[in-house]
Amino acid sequence: MQQDLRVYNTKTRKKEVFNPITEGKVGMYVCGPTVYGDAHLGHARPAITFDILYRYFKYLKFDVCYVRNITDVGHLVGDADEGEDKIAKKAREEKIDPFEIAKQYTERYHRDIYALNVLPPDVEPRATQHIQEQIEATQQMIDNGFAYEVNGSVYFDLEKYNEKYNYGELSGRILDEMQNNTRELDGQSDKKNPLDFALWKFAEPEHLMKWDSPWGIGYPGWHLECTAMSTKYLGKHFDIHGGGLDLMFPHHECEIAQGNACNHEEPANYWMHNNMITINGQKMGKSLGNFITLEEIYNGDHKLLENKYSPMTVRFFILQAQYRSTLDFSNDALGAAKKGFNKLMNALRALEGFEYIHNGEETNEKQEKVIDSAVNGCLRAMNDDMNTAVVISHLFKLTKIINQINMNTLPIGALSAEKFELMKTTFITFTKDILGLKDEMPTDLLPSIYNALERYKTAKEVKDYDSVDAIRAELKEISIVVKDMKHKIDWAYEE
Ligand code: ZN
Repeated sequence: MQQDLRVYNTKTRKKEVFNPITEGKVGMYVCGPTVYGDAHLGHARPAITFDILYRYFKYLKFDVCYVRNITDVGHLVGDADEGEDKIAKKAREEKIDPFEIAKQYTERYHRDIYALNVLPPDVEPRATQHIQEQIEATQQMIDNGFAYEVNGSVYFDLEKYNEKYNYGELSGRILDEMQNNTRELDGQSDKKNPLDFALWKFAEPEHLMKWDSPWGIGYPGWHLECTAMSTKYLGKHFDIHGGGLDLMFPHHECEIAQGNACNHEEPANYWMHNNMITINGQKMGKSLGNFITLEEIYNGDHKLLENKYSPMTVRFFILQAQYRSTLDFSNDALGAAKKGFNKLMNALRALEGFEYIHNGEETNEKQEKVIDSAVNGCLRAMNDDMNTAVVISHLFKLTKIINQINMNTLPIGALSAEKFELMKTTFITFTKDILGLKDEMPTDLLPSIYNALERYKTAKEVKDYDSVDAIRAELKEISIVVKDMKHKIDWAYEE
């Protein structure tokens, strides 16, 4: 099974069979958040995308090491070498120590991302805890002739680099063209070439986060931390490097350059990027007023939201698209995702409650074929560059069969024990373990639902139809419907 997995490699621009460097092992590094504000949809997508990949590697029995960093220094407001540090800016605005800002927003990031049932990575290194490694990497690049020091700052020398390597190969940009399109900005005059990027920046006295270095007091450039930390935890050359498409240039391009400049080899074999989320067809941005945090989505607390949406609804919504396609957030799309998620959860609950019995029924070959095709379809879709959208469509095919069994229109014995078990294992494994979806019913709510169902049964027996209607309405308030079937009365999530 392992050799069947194909992933899209941004660098070669094609789907490739995944071949690990070491048999049975995978090292993957994903760029995590810069912790100066609350997590939003733009954080949820990479967190979920690479969580799916991590989960799938585990399912395929790979020994996987997943590293996802926390950027707590060096990411400047302009995403380049100018402007204030994003965290320091927030610290100044909120009059709190920048380290405290980073701590607070890391905690909030964990709270909002783990609500999405994202597994914690194996290592979660922070940039401020790897200053020494970043200084050493900078020194290495100077020693190798790819970096130079000016006035206490160290810059990457792109012209030198391009004599031997090819800057821009990941994003398909050409250095000469980029140079023609770059204006010389004030404050960049230290650089030999305006496109040279900072490895280490001299810190003005008022700068809040700074460390001693061979070049004086300063702080690391944003791109450097990922080189230092991926090398430390995964080695100079590892399998997969991932992140959002917005990080491909310049961040990942610079990481490739730094890898070559430090270690004479590129950091990763496969570069994987998730596409962006738009909101009602627009790019998300603070100035557009459509910037919605995950906390606001969970609480329904934003003017663009007609409802609150649970973490699993958000997760399901994201999984409904293959990670490389764009995804548009709207109330309609989230409403549809909620229904789809509920449909899966109803089937999951029914399936987990089934007991297989065979009473001499004839085998329903047509349904058995549907099961075989859906099971193979799930695996094929995951192997085809993690197409979770197609996985979900196959799970819905199984949902139909599960519902027929639940409604008593298909006897469970019309499936062989073996086929039933295959369907059950596949459905549960893909839904829970690989897609990472889970039932969100609070446990303290269940007793009151069963209590309402008991009252419903009694009211129905004595033909008290006013009460029957009242109980239905009472449950509908919490999006639960009564399933009044010939052979049993049960509850289900509203679909
Ligand atoms: Zn990074």
